[in-house]
Amino acid sequence: MPTAALILAASIAVGGHPAHRTVDVHKGKKPDLLSIIIDKSVDPGVDFFSYSNGLWIKAYPIPPSESSWGIGNAVITELRSKLLTVNQHASKNAKPGSDDQKVHDFWTTGNDEAKAERLGITPLRPLFDRIDAISTVQDAVDVSFWIQNQGVSSLFSFYVGQDEKSSDVMAVHVQQGGLGLPERDFYFNSEAGVAKIRAEYLKHLEILLKLAGDSDETATAKATSIMNFETSLAKASRKLEDLRDPIANYHKMTPDDVTSKLTPSIDWQKHLSDWHLNPSAVVVGQPEFFSSLEALLKGTSIDLLKSYFRVRTLAAYSPYLNKSAVDEDFRFNHTVLSGQKTLKPRWKRVIDSEGEAIGFILGRIFVRDYFPPASKKRYADIVEAFRQAYGRRIDKLDWMSPATKAKAHLKLSILHKKVGYPDKWKDYSKLEIGTESYCQNMINASKWAFEDMLSKFGKPVDRNEWDMTPQTYNAYYNPSNNEIVLPAASFAVPGLLDSEVDEAFAYGYAGASTIGHEMTHGFDDEGRQYDGKGNLSEWWTKDDAKKFQNRAAVMIKQFNSYQPLPGLHINGKASLGENIADYGGILLGIDAFKRTASYKSGKKIGGLTPIQRFFLGYAISWMTEERPEVLRRQLLSDVHAPAKWRVLGPLSNIPEFYKAFHIKPGQPMWRPENQRVRIW
Ligand SMILES: [Zn+2]
Repeated sequence: MPTAALILAASIAVGGHPAHRTVDVHKGKKPDLLSIIIDKSVDPGVDFFSYSNGLWIKAYPIPPSESSWGIGNAVITELRSKLLTVNQHASKNAKPGSDDQKVHDFWTTGNDEAKAERLGITPLRPLFDRIDAISTVQDAVDVSFWIQNQGVSSLFSFYVGQDEKSSDVMAVHVQQGGLGLPERDFYFNSEAGVAKIRAEYLKHLEILLKLAGDSDETATAKATSIMNFETSLAKASRKLEDLRDPIANYHKMTPDDVTSKLTPSIDWQKHLSDWHLNPSAVVVGQPEFFSSLEALLKGTSIDLLKSYFRVRTLAAYSPYLNKSAVDEDFRFNHTVLSGQKTLKPRWKRVIDSEGEAIGFILGRIFVRDYFPPASKKRYADIVEAFRQAYGRRIDKLDWMSPATKAKAHLKLSILHKKVGYPDKWKDYSKLEIGTESYCQNMINASKWAFEDMLSKFGKPVDRNEWDMTPQTYNAYYNPSNNEIVLPAASFAVPGLLDSEVDEAFAYGYAGASTIGHEMTHGFDDEGRQYDGKGNLSEWWTKDDAKKFQNRAAVMIKQFNSYQPLPGLHINGKASLGENIADYGGILLGIDAFKRTASYKSGKKIGGLTPIQRFFLGYAISWMTEERPEVLRRQLLSDVHAPAKWRVLGPLSNIPEFYKAFHIKPGQPMWRPENQRVRIW
């Protein structure tokens, strides 16, 4: 590996030292990141992922305290050290209730390990007391609603959000839920690694029960019963791919009908009105799940239900308790499920949980200090370049009728963009953050978030809201708002200032992999079912919808054939929307980039042509290596394909890519013309 590569890579692979400065101070030019990490020993036509990112991945193996390592982690590492400064500067004498006081108290209390040890699990006492008082099924149902407020999800999922068929209205949604493992398939998949996870989960349940006060014998017997109970919930749950059909998962019913037809044991009207909700209808995701839940509630002993709630409560809060609770959370969630070897230092864990609790307070400071107006303008302009590119691509499609094209244009033209950070910041004034305990602060934050969600019911939809903080290394498309939401951190390249990222790099990295990706979500297998106003409606002609599905089926087949772990293939159906979005993002990126000055100039940087840099910019956005445990979990529970295949899959369908890297017929990255995906 060239020395220059080591210098730059070191700057982006920053380790655990809080005071580390991530931008290397070198007078003169920094080495070109895209070219120095290429592994020339790999043929790009054989494995473009390893070619484009290979040297970095070889030089920086996954650290013991991580379950995966790559560009996202490097961005997060930089972010953490920025947020550390913010925390360290929060004033001790801040006005009670102010943002500064919240940051200060959250930070100091979170880092007070001795206090957490002294308190043990007592911060959960009020929750356990309420659970212990259960004596009837009715009490158990009451508790399942009550602990939702406290940030503990059990039995089913609940949220207030936009009505899929009427996006101007907030609706009450109830869905399948209540599982302790990440997804339904974990309870049934026969692959050896998954079977091992089930055995470890049983042990996990047993340890949690003991931590909650059960004797060894009781804990062993109860753990098995809880596992059986959850397996029944899982059996009643729909598969990951079946949750992606928005129409099949939408059943509007009156609360009284949900009670009488599905769950006579749950008086929805009463429980919702306890939350000051009086909806005329509830959107039930999976009615058959609730029928099974009813049977299960009737057939389960009160004692077991109590143990189940205790376990769910402890599982939700153990990362913020004493050492034995933290250790067990680490053992199961981070070691068994993620392959991590050592626990992250406490200060990192505290900053991460602070992001969950009061993320927009930190976000406001973060963008003020680190996201200049020039960057906001740059990416807003790239969004517009991509929008125009999409319009031109729609015009050129030979399979879509003029009627559907006209409506696609309309949807595209009113697609809303949110870039960097919200115009209006969240008001945390009612949230209490104090010095009582780390766990109490997390409970308070959950309660506040729940109340905040409930308060939206019955009010006009606030379309200015953000569901991600500006410092999140991610982005999303919300079909109900027909909007793409692009947090400031999603544009970040570790070790580089935004002004140091050249146009080709930016068009591939932030452009294709994020902006174009999110934009295409509006037209993927799921997003395309929503119109421009964010309502589920059939705006495609029947014939066009059929043609779309036939073309998408090629993508499903391609991804089903990838096997990242022996015996576990990618779920082509469950990951279809993401794979279409990746593929579309690259196509829009190519079209938009071809209109830029740097493409037209043909000027090489680091020995690479502009179009090569564009594709490398895309590939580096997925520069990540994952432990097998993470791969397994992802293959079973995530609608995103693992990072490597998000490079291999979409690019193998794109002729411009073949041309840029001289990919030859017969090579793995090349597909015969009749086997390529052709949608957008
Ligand atoms: Zn996506």
